[in-house]
Amino acid sequence: MTVARFWRENEPRYNLTGAKCGNCGRLYFPPRTVCPVCHRKSIGKMEPFKLKGTGEVLTFSVVHDAPSQFELQKPYVIAIIQMDECIRVTGQIIDCEPSEVTVGMKVQAVIRKLGEEGPSGIIHYGYKFMPVIAPSAPEAPAP
Ligand SMILES: [Zn+2]
Repeated sequence: MTVARFWRENEPRYNLTGAKCGNCGRLYFPPRTVCPVCHRKSIGKMEPFKLKGTGEVLTFSVVHDAPSQFELQKPYVIAIIQMDECIRVTGQIIDCEPSEVTVGMKVQAVIRKLGEEGPSGIIHYGYKFMPVIAPSAPEAPAP
């Protein structure tokens, strides 16, 4: 499978797929087709990799003056997440009150509806982050 085809079939917004430079090993999210450090040396060497989706809040801000498409959910929290892979991702924190968000809070990425577009009702999905309450118990083995 070519790299270009991979990107088309695996929309990074849906599954948190980044890119790894095959030349220097740096990780990027959103994925890049060329490493900004290696430039030409990285062409054709960028490899997809999937983020685990977990990380912690590095910094955040509570947005009170939301654009109209966010009216129903304001105030909301936009945070910079330090992912476990040591790359930073900006995203909205959901499923908790803005007052509950703290620096260092563990979060995990989830896929949520972002909005609907016009009368055609095209629904956009993307990643957001929700607090990790507790490690989920392993599934009981089937008898
Ligand atoms: Zn590189």
